[in-house]
Amino acid sequence: MAWKTIIEPFRIKSVEPLGFTTPAERERLLREGGYNLFNIPANKVLIDLLTDSGTSAMSAEQWAAMMRGDESYAGATSFYRFEKAVRELTGLREVIPVHQGRAAERILFQLLGGPGKVVLANSHFDTTRANVEVSGAEARDLTIPEASKAAVSYPFKGNMDTLALEGCLKELGSRVPLVIMTVTNNSVGGQPVSMANLRETSRICREYKVPLFLDCARFAENAWLIKRREAGFAALSPKEISKEMFSYCQGAWMSSKKDALVNMGGFLAFSDAVLAKKAREVLIIGEGFTTYGGLSGRDLEAVAVGLTEVLDEEYLAYRIRSIEYLAEGLRKAGVPIVEPPGGHGVYVDARAFLPHIPPEKYPAQALACHLYLLGGIRTVEIGSLMFGKKGPDGTFKPARAELVRLAVPRRVYTQSHIDYVIEVFGELARRGPDIRGLTLIEASEHLSHFTAKLAPAAA
Ligand SMILES: *Cc1c(COP(=O)(O)O)cnc(C)c1O
Repeated sequence: MAWKTIIEPFRIKSVEPLGFTTPAERERLLREGGYNLFNIPANKVLIDLLTDSGTSAMSAEQWAAMMRGDESYAGATSFYRFEKAVRELTGLREVIPVHQGRAAERILFQLLGGPGKVVLANSHFDTTRANVEVSGAEARDLTIPEASKAAVSYPFKGNMDTLALEGCLKELGSRVPLVIMTVTNNSVGGQPVSMANLRETSRICREYKVPLFLDCARFAENAWLIKRREAGFAALSPKEISKEMFSYCQGAWMSSKKDALVNMGGFLAFSDAVLAKKAREVLIIGEGFTTYGGLSGRDLEAVAVGLTEVLDEEYLAYRIRSIEYLAEGLRKAGVPIVEPPGGHGVYVDARAFLPHIPPEKYPAQALACHLYLLGGIRTVEIGSLMFGKKGPDGTFKPARAELVRLAVPRRVYTQSHIDYVIEVFGELARRGPDIRGLTLIEASEHLSHFTAKLAPAAA
């Protein structure tokens, strides 16, 4: 029997209260916070879909492992357990712990970046891009054209444009120090990369003798979507699929705050021992000794356990099914979304949802604020507040798309929480035409969306 109910493959033994508030309180908090949801205290949020990063619920096994954490400065047993888990998953011998993904990026691009270099990727996550650019190198995205068509469904929108890759490698030669494949492709909506695309990318990289690195924050979600969407993989386990994915790369780094089901952690791994030796020298300066790299022994234990748990088929089926369930509910409520939903959340197309609000009045941020106002739900704008620019003549240049991301934390919310989100969206769909835009009143030059202040625009 194929039951329709999503069974969360866990039961709950430790609970945390949700932040209930009144509409008047939420209105005041929004006003005082400059209509920026980063300024809302977490205990005033009912359902927090701001990010899936570092927000996972850990398992009883992970907590138990944390009690075994060996806090020795050097050579802790926890490090060896961590190293074994990463080696077994990735097949890469040299394993370096770091406190989170961007720390791995800073080390990597300090070594391989620099002026004149061009780093190529299916797309750079924002911290990846920042670290490439800080080194003086250029970060070039080779996203496929399907990725920018929100309403067009394509199973692997995360793929690399391999024709463009070959063209760039031909043109740039030794100026390209490495090629990055981000799995899943975060910047285009958590969209997966197919095994065929990974294989072809690896073939091209070998032909041009450039190492391929995986930015593998969501490798398990990518593996599951390959199993579900790509011919020939249905019978393989997520672990077997993951191992094949890693077999195509010479290096990898991970923000373990995603698919390692922990609240903090990461790693950098190589096959190249010479590069690893240099990386460890940089590690010691900024993060810590080679066997802890910015993490405590208990953190290393939690990652080691999480890397195994995340590949559990019951977990991944529940994880991806609950994202699809949210997408189905939103579609039924008449909410336009990026199709198909990816691995870690659903992206709402605010430009299509609120066509009466022009980009310079931040339709996606207005929608995010109304979601909070109406239902206490926190999401994040991925639109002109995050990516819009002022041209040299002071004119406003909107972002490519106006999206609201509903990122779903791992193992945190149940089906009834998701039903509630869908219900609130149903009401918002009815009120859509009454929603007003916002005006920007204060912004910093870099990463302004974290600190910007806005106000309701005049009608
Ligand atoms: C989150 C993320 C990073 C950065 O990791 P942090 O742990 O936030 O520093 C890098 N790449 C991808 C694809 C990510 O999702």
